[in-house]
Amino acid sequence: MKHSVDLITMGCSKNLVDSERLLQLFAEHGYATYHDPEEVHGDIAIVNTCGFINDAKEESINMILELCNLKEAGKLKGLYVMGCLSERYRKELEEEIPQVDKFYGKYDWKQLVQDLPAVEGGKLHRGRLLTTPSHFAYLKIAEGCDRRCAFCAIPLITGKHHSRTIEDILQEVEECVAAGVKEFQVIAQELTYYGMDIYQEQRLPELIERMAKVPGVEWIRLHYAYPNNFPMDLLRVIRENDNVCNYLDIALQHISDNVLMRMRRNVTKAETEALIKKIREEVPGICIRTTLLVGFPGETEEDFEQLMDFVKRARFDRMGAFSYSEEEGTFAAKNYDDDVPEEVKQARMDRLMKLQEGISTELCAEKIGQVFKVMIDRQEGDYYIGRTEHDSPDVDCEVLIPVSEGQLKIGEFCLAEIVASEEYDLYGHLIKHDTAL
Ligand code: SF4
Repeated sequence: MKHSVDLITMGCSKNLVDSERLLQLFAEHGYATYHDPEEVHGDIAIVNTCGFINDAKEESINMILELCNLKEAGKLKGLYVMGCLSERYRKELEEEIPQVDKFYGKYDWKQLVQDLPAVEGGKLHRGRLLTTPSHFAYLKIAEGCDRRCAFCAIPLITGKHHSRTIEDILQEVEECVAAGVKEFQVIAQELTYYGMDIYQEQRLPELIERMAKVPGVEWIRLHYAYPNNFPMDLLRVIRENDNVCNYLDIALQHISDNVLMRMRRNVTKAETEALIKKIREEVPGICIRTTLLVGFPGETEEDFEQLMDFVKRARFDRMGAFSYSEEEGTFAAKNYDDDVPEEVKQARMDRLMKLQEGISTELCAEKIGQVFKVMIDRQEGDYYIGRTEHDSPDVDCEVLIPVSEGQLKIGEFCLAEIVASEEYDLYGHLIKHDTAL
C-alpha cells in the first residue's frame, strides 16, 4: 500500500517552490502526494510554514495545531514542520508543540526525506511536482536578501542573498517547458539584486533575455523588484521581447522621505517618482503592481497624506497594502516604538484601499473595447476564467469569458475583446481560439 504524504504550503510562492521540490522527491520514492490543506490522507503531513508577519505566523501555528488534533485522534501517523516559522522559532516550537515529530528550517528540509524510513537513497535534484495549473510555474531565481529594510524579518529567516546560476535556471525552464509550462512567474525576495553575489553585477536583464529565447516560453512575468539601483536595461528587455510581459511588480512601501528614511529603504521620494516615470516612458502601457505599508512607526498624518497623493497621481494598475506589525529582531522593533495606534493603522489602510479600488475601477473601464491575449486558467460555472499579460495568478485581475461563446482549453491562449468591467475584473467576448492566433 503506497504511503501518503500531505504537504501544506503556507505563505508565499517562494515557499511553494520548495514544497513542489519536496513533493517531487516523495513522488519519486513511491509516495502518493497531496497538496490540499482541506483534506489529509492519514500517513504523513508536512506544514511548510510562513514566519513573515504576525498574521502569517498565527495561520501557520493554527494549521499545525489542527494537524496535532488529527494525530491525537489517530487520523495521522506522522507530523513534520518546515519553512520560515520553524527556521525562526524552532526551539520554542519544539518546547511548545511536542506532538510534532520533527521541525526543519528554511533550508534543511531536504533532511526530511532522509529521516523518513520509507525513502531509500533519496537524492534531491531540480525536479518539481507542480502544484499550480500545469501551464504556469513559479521560477525562484534566488533566495535570501542583503537589504535591511527596518520592518522586515525576511533576512533574519532566509539569510543573505544567494542567486542560482543562469545555466541552472535555464535548465529548469527547459524542463518545465517540456512538462507543459508556458508561463513563468519569476520570483525572489529581491529580484533586481540577482547576480550581485555570484557574478558581482546585476544579471537579471541577461537572464530574462536568455529565458525569452527558450522555445515554448510564452509569458515571463517579473515579481518583487526593488526601487533602489534598479537595472535599467531590464526595461529594454521587457520592451523588446514579446514574451516578456508588460508587467512589473515593484514594492515601494511608501513615498514620504521621512518614512522611507526610517524604513531604511535607501531611496527617496524624488528617486521613486523618477523611476516610475522612467519605467512608463521606456515601456509604454506597462502594468505596474506595487505594495505599500501604512502605520510604520513615526508615520505622521502628513506622511500618510503624501502617500495618498502619490497613489492618486501614480495610478498603479495593481496595488497591495499592509499595516505595520512589529517583528522581533528587526531594526524597527529594536529602535522604534510601534506608536501608530491600531485603529489609525486600520483607518489609513481602509482609505488607501478605497482610493485604489476607485482607480482600479477606472483603469478596468478604460480597457473596454480593447482586445487582449488571454490565458485560460479554469472554468467556473458559465465562465472561462483567464488572465491577460497584465495579471499575475491569485493576486491580480481576471477575465471572464462566457462558456457559451466557444470551446476553450485550460492552459491555452485566446483573443478576447473586453466588453464590460468591475473594480478588479473584466468581461471578455471571445474573438479567436488559440489555434487561430
Ligand atoms: S528587500 Fe524585501 S525581503 Fe529584503 S529586507 Fe527589504 S522588504 Fe525584506
